[in-house]
Amino acid sequence: MFQAFLIKYAEIGIKGKNRYLFEDALVRHMERALKDVDGSFQISREMGRIYVHTEGEFDYDGAVEALQRVFGIAGICPAVIVEDEGYEKLAAAVVDYVKKVYPDSRQTFKVCARRANKTYPLNSMELNMELGGEILEACPGMTVDVHHPDIYLTVEVRQKIYIYSEEIPGPGGMPVGTNGSAMLLLSGGIDSPVAGYMIAKRGVKIDAVYFHAPPYTSDRAKQKVVDLARLVARYSGPIRLHVVNFTEIQLAIYEKCPHDELTIIMRRYMMKIAEAFAEKDGALGLITGESIGQVASQTMHSLACTNAVCTMPVFRPLIGFDKQEIVDIALKIDTYETSVLPYEDCCTIFVAKHPVTKPNLSRIEHSERKLADVIDGMIKTAIETAETIEV
Ligand code: ATP
Ligand code: MG
Repeated sequence: MFQAFLIKYAEIGIKGKNRYLFEDALVRHMERALKDVDGSFQISREMGRIYVHTEGEFDYDGAVEALQRVFGIAGICPAVIVEDEGYEKLAAAVVDYVKKVYPDSRQTFKVCARRANKTYPLNSMELNMELGGEILEACPGMTVDVHHPDIYLTVEVRQKIYIYSEEIPGPGGMPVGTNGSAMLLLSGGIDSPVAGYMIAKRGVKIDAVYFHAPPYTSDRAKQKVVDLARLVARYSGPIRLHVVNFTEIQLAIYEKCPHDELTIIMRRYMMKIAEAFAEKDGALGLITGESIGQVASQTMHSLACTNAVCTMPVFRPLIGFDKQEIVDIALKIDTYETSVLPYEDCCTIFVAKHPVTKPNLSRIEHSERKLADVIDGMIKTAIETAETIEV
């Protein structure tokens, strides 16, 4: 029954002179999201509002789901559009709308008419009164409540007339690309896809690095990460995924460094390499899925040691989250099921039985010196031989 969606956006509204940049980006992302949905959609901007107009039959659920993945959208209001053919026809359309959307209703309502077309014979107040009266008469269960109505029925009189009352929540956030870009360290776990989602939600374009260790990690483990990147990309837009062969470096660490320090040292080299890709791609920071205390490599001491190799800011959006809170987001964005597939990632193969939980930076640096002859060459090779997948 709907012919359009009115798109409500929250924070874009406060961006002052740059507002049009945010709106342009939002429209672009909406177009991208709707491209694969059945139907014909035109996005238009009128007087500080964004509408999606549809033509003929379209996949309503598909369109709503697609729009619910566009950061920057706070609410999606399905609207009925009627031609301006006089008050009688409008009143009939409004009553028809209420009957269809609230079939067995004993609810309170308020009509909120807005007259963008000032030549319309009734003003907003008159429309509120008259249309309210029609609804009361046609729908006996309904009563008016002007302060806290269950149903807030908007009637916007423009060239055509828009009727809407439902607001489907959007994902919030800001349009991707309006806030620079960052490099996500993406593993096959639960956390890092959620971390990428959260930073992208704030308008940041993301690219990603995955470290694999063939033959210790399988092609299926790699495919799982590609799949996760694709799931995140449904929200964030295209991701350049760099797949780095980390085997040689891992074996060298395993051979030369104390085993209780393996994970920390490995994480430090991952950060270094990720930073090199960030610089190449013009990203301004790194993103990880770390959360304080979750595992030995994420205690405050460990995080401080890992952080010490980075010159770029490292964003850890999950830092204060409990596992269950992270799982809840993973379920919401549909990455959970893929994340829990049992393919090993490179960290689980070279883990010590008793990893340090309070690593000491100078001791770690001392251990790393044992790799001094070989590590620079290995890092260079790892960067040069990385495979880049456009997801
Ligand atoms: P996740 O669920 O994201 O894998 P985790 O709880 O398993 O996290 P760790 O294995 O300690 O935690 O990894 C911490 C962070 O380091 C990850 O969130 C991710 O950002 C990064 N990371 C770990 N392993 C890899 C990898 N193989 N490739 C890329 N990044 C990785
Ligand atoms: Mg992991």
